[in-house]
Amino acid sequence: MLDFTLSDEQLALQKKAREFAINEVLPAAWYYDEKDEIPLSVLKKAFDAGIMNSDIPKKYGGRGYGLLEGAILTEEIAAACPGLATSIFDNSLGFEPLMISDREALKEKYLSKIAKEFKRICFATSEPTMGSDVASMICRATKDGDGYLLNGTKYWITNGGIADYMTIFATVDPEQKHAGICAFIVEKEWDGVRVGRSIPKMGQRTSNTVGINLKNVRVPKENVLAEPGEGFVLAMKTFARTRPIIGAFAVGAARSAMEYALDYAKKRRAFGGRISNYQSTQFKLAEMFQKVETMRLLVWKAAWEADRGMDPTITASISKFYATESAVQVMNDALQIFGGYGYTRMYPIEKLLRDTRLLPIYEGTSEVQRIIIAGYLLGSYRSIMPSLDEIPILIGDHHLLDGKKDAAEAAWRCPLCGYVHYGDEAPEECPYCFVGGKGFKKVWPK
Ligand SMILES: Cc1cc2nc3c(=O)[nH]c(=O)nc-3n(C[C@H](O)[C@H](O)[C@H](O)COP(=O)(O)OP(=O)(O)OC[C@H]3O[C@@H](n4cnc5c(N)ncnc54)[C@H](O)[C@@H]3O)c2cc1C
Repeated sequence: MLDFTLSDEQLALQKKAREFAINEVLPAAWYYDEKDEIPLSVLKKAFDAGIMNSDIPKKYGGRGYGLLEGAILTEEIAAACPGLATSIFDNSLGFEPLMISDREALKEKYLSKIAKEFKRICFATSEPTMGSDVASMICRATKDGDGYLLNGTKYWITNGGIADYMTIFATVDPEQKHAGICAFIVEKEWDGVRVGRSIPKMGQRTSNTVGINLKNVRVPKENVLAEPGEGFVLAMKTFARTRPIIGAFAVGAARSAMEYALDYAKKRRAFGGRISNYQSTQFKLAEMFQKVETMRLLVWKAAWEADRGMDPTITASISKFYATESAVQVMNDALQIFGGYGYTRMYPIEKLLRDTRLLPIYEGTSEVQRIIIAGYLLGSYRSIMPSLDEIPILIGDHHLLDGKKDAAEAAWRCPLCGYVHYGDEAPEECPYCFVGGKGFKKVWPK
């Protein structure tokens, strides 16, 4: 049975996140955006309130929530500040590879610490020379006894500057592409780990983004998360579970922009009336709401699939690119409704727009999501309808279905132009495109 009702527990979680967003995130958002600084104190409060790390299983001391609960929490925090939502929920991206791995000892060690102490963990596949093309990474992992030595630079790493632990993807040999990729849990304090300056960004300035340089960083055997050949799959499985959460960022941000635009439209007057009276404003608002609702449905569906143990890869991609692109459109419309004030820093839309513009880029650009979905369609998708050359489109003066005495026994379809020939045999050639009759396929009866 399909049911969109949230349980009492989920409603309580939503309420808690909503109150946290309004009381703790909203007051900090613009101040820290202006300062271009991550407010660690807000992250600590989110940790204390049980909003961070919600998906760590109970056996490691976590709350054991599913992805759906994660999406509910995320939407609320992102509604107040998408940048802080990135900062708060980046831990889940950081530990997701560990969570879905089979490395029990590593889970015991790190997931337990992250659940109980205020520890941050970041996730690093990207490098200065590659982001989308994960298999082209060049950060090197060289065998060193029973462990590895890491050398190279990871780039764009969210929370890298405040992380205690790092999930680092590297390759034993760039020539091997996917087959060479492995993954490690690295501690920030280890010799050879250096963190770069905070990268100045257009938006999401309340989140920290840095480069991480690794020079002869020795990783002991116990901290190998994925051996060569396992790392790429681990990264892709991670994204399949974290992309719906990026979709949830988009839902929250778009919902806020819609609500602010609604509020403004009801108050602002032009040409003797409120701008909310004008149909062009109403249509914009209606379309914003339509987008917010459909975005959320897709995000929840992807989360629901993951929580039921299904492979959420395709729905995750669909939800991510639909929700994040729609959110940017919602921001644009909201800004238009605000007129000139929308373009100022005194109203919330310009920050929301700057913050939201990142969403179709990180964790796989919209183009990458389209590549994944198209690959699925052209590869393993199974059509429900018969193929085109088998489809019985019976048109014209046919004698099959009308019960006539001299009705033809069969219908034949031209493989090129689609002409349907009625007769016991295929025609010698197509009367329309002249292709030979041998190519005709019997489409009726089956
Ligand atoms: C603020 C921020 C935070 C981030 N946080 C993290 C993080 O925590 N960890 C991490 O590992 N990474 C992180 N990233 C990196 C992010 O995931 C990458 O920026 C993203 O994957 C795109 O990679 P790129 O920037 O190298 O662009 P490229 O891969 O160079 O792509 C450039 C453009 O070309 C397009 N393109 C590329 N290949 C194709 C193709 N085959 N067909 C069609 N179009 C294509 C892309 O869609 C894009 O539009 C972050 C990035 C930012 C900006």
